[in-house]
Amino acid sequence: MESKVNIINRSVLVLNQTYEPLHICDVKRAITLILEQKASLVLTADHLYLHTVSNAYPVPSVIRIHQYIHVPHWEAVLNKANIFRRDNYTCQYCGAQNVPLTIDHVVPKVRGGSDSWTNLVTACVECNNRKGNHLPEEVGLKLRTQPKKPHKIHTMQRYLAAPVEEWRPYLFLD
Ligand SMILES: [Zn+2]
Repeated sequence: MESKVNIINRSVLVLNQTYEPLHICDVKRAITLILEQKASLVLTADHLYLHTVSNAYPVPSVIRIHQYIHVPHWEAVLNKANIFRRDNYTCQYCGAQNVPLTIDHVVPKVRGGSDSWTNLVTACVECNNRKGNHLPEEVGLKLRTQPKKPHKIHTMQRYLAAPVEEWRPYLFLD
């Protein structure tokens, strides 16, 4: 049995009026939105109820807000931490994890490579040294995945990948 505090702090996926994933809030906030009739329940957490003196509320897992929220164009900030995060802290050449990581320019700067999502990747020190001012193929290295600019959905998917199975359909994972 989950304690009331745990239940209150559970994550709830908030969908826009159009059913697009918007953000995540806690159960307390979600119930407030429902009671204020600003949102409706889409999916409840299995067999969980929040008991007050006079009522028992089904615990929300996914809610949908009634009024469309215009989301300004979302841009991931290009920085070292976000590149590591996008690449799951993994060297994009050899797949090493749990090693000191660096940022590598796929096309080296001295050869006209830009500071951009598609030209910056996570690399371990060894691969970065081996690469130097070369293109990967010149030194027998190959990118494991093509670097892309992260999309909001990808970021949410990564953030949520493991914990909440029941959200998968709402995050377009199925
Ligand atoms: Zn490496």
